[in-house]
Amino acid sequence: MARTTPPRPVDVSVEFPELAGSARTAVRLHPVPGAPTVHDSSVGGPLLWPADEEWPVFESPGLPFMPVTTLADIRELRTLLTLPEPTPAQRLAVTRLMDGYDAEDITSSGPMPLIPVAQLYARDVPGLPFPEGTDVLQVLWLPLPDIEGCWPAVQLRWRAAAEVRQVLAEPPEPAYVELDDHVPQPCLLQPEEILEFPPLHLLGEELQQRITAWSKRASLEYQWELSVAPGWKAGGWPAEFTFRDPAEPDDELCCGECGGPVEALLTVGGGERGSGGGSWTAVELRELVEADPGAYPLAYEPTRIQIGRGYVLQFYYCLADPRHLPRTIMQ
Ligand SMILES: [Zn+2]
Repeated sequence: MARTTPPRPVDVSVEFPELAGSARTAVRLHPVPGAPTVHDSSVGGPLLWPADEEWPVFESPGLPFMPVTTLADIRELRTLLTLPEPTPAQRLAVTRLMDGYDAEDITSSGPMPLIPVAQLYARDVPGLPFPEGTDVLQVLWLPLPDIEGCWPAVQLRWRAAAEVRQVLAEPPEPAYVELDDHVPQPCLLQPEEILEFPPLHLLGEELQQRITAWSKRASLEYQWELSVAPGWKAGGWPAEFTFRDPAEPDDELCCGECGGPVEALLTVGGGERGSGGGSWTAVELRELVEADPGAYPLAYEPTRIQIGRGYVLQFYYCLADPRHLPRTIMQ
């Protein structure tokens, strides 16, 4: 089940010695469909949550106009869609589940419980900024269409696993879900440490131009093949693409709670193959898809999370206090 990233096609720190000091270790999470327990690092899996601690909720901004669905229906729909030969009744069920409901028909209102996005134990992802005494990071959000910002719809918990005596057996679930693309399919992880270099947009203009000219000559895109790994990952550099223009002073990345600087924490969504020539594709995944073309594209996107039109959600944490609300940006 292990996942192995092939060696980079070239060593950019040899081509551009000024990059040598800016290499960062990241952990590719390599999600694999499975049935994680609270004791596993996971995506979308159950969290090691104390029975006597309040579950995080968010006051939804009001009933949505678009049809909604539920977690139970999303689970059923995903199961039905994997059937090789659905019966007529199952096909009808698929249509019904895809249509969803009017939010008005769902009576429950009030604060909406968040859902688990990821749980990372320090033993699997040692490089994260665990506050002293903690060894597990939990990430939760409400699956709203827009999950960018720095607000309590997206939350982090850093905790000490040994302090959790009794685990919350049945976490509350939101009465409805606005966007199934933001509901992760439970996955186990195959963490793998790799080395990353700064994304092109964070380099100075002169170096950007030299790297771009070299990329053309070498027929190797620094941005897609050599800098930042695709897919779910922890630590390292932020995702290799951005809509933001850092030249704008108002556009500075900062913590929404204290205004202090932030740094890359977690990259969510995005396919395991990545863009460009696919040089980041793990050896085992490439073999799996070659042996069974039917495994494509789910093998590359096992979490079912889709951020916008194929982007990722980059989480940033506050350097002053990682317990502050994270900042999330689609990039
Ligand atoms: Zn802060």
